[in-house]
Amino acid sequence: MKKVVITTENKCSHCPGTRCCQYVTQHIDSPRKKVDFQLMLWQVSHANVEFYKDEDGWFLMFITPCEQLLDNGLCAIYEQRPNICHEYENDYCEYDASAEEGFELYFKTYPSLLAYCKKRFKRFP
Ligand code: SF4
Ligand code: SF4
Repeated sequence: MKKVVITTENKCSHCPGTRCCQYVTQHIDSPRKKVDFQLMLWQVSHANVEFYKDEDGWFLMFITPCEQLLDNGLCAIYEQRPNICHEYENDYCEYDASAEEGFELYFKTYPSLLAYCKKRFKRFP
């Protein structure tokens, strides 16, 4: 069988789960006080709510597939897709390396964030 050569033109059609369309992120102010982390602990307690920190700062992330994503992996609004999607380059993307590799901190659960808080503050809460 002939091996498929992955290029930027065909990469998205071979991307398992269309990775970059499976979540939304929102930049947040860097948490500093206990009260900031208390709020985050409440948020991360909810299903599919996560936090990470990378070179651009802290982000709230919701793991939730885009409703414009069709079963065949195509975008239902491709021509009118939002700027953030339009500007996302696939020359080196989540197909090549998971986004997590660029995370300095990553909290997917209440226990993981609570452990960080207990390390960061002498007494928590
Ligand atoms: S841009 Fe990258 S992560 Fe997104 S669908 Fe295409 S190959 Fe997958
Ligand atoms: S609008 Fe289209 S390209 Fe953007 S996240 Fe949704 S499915 Fe993906």
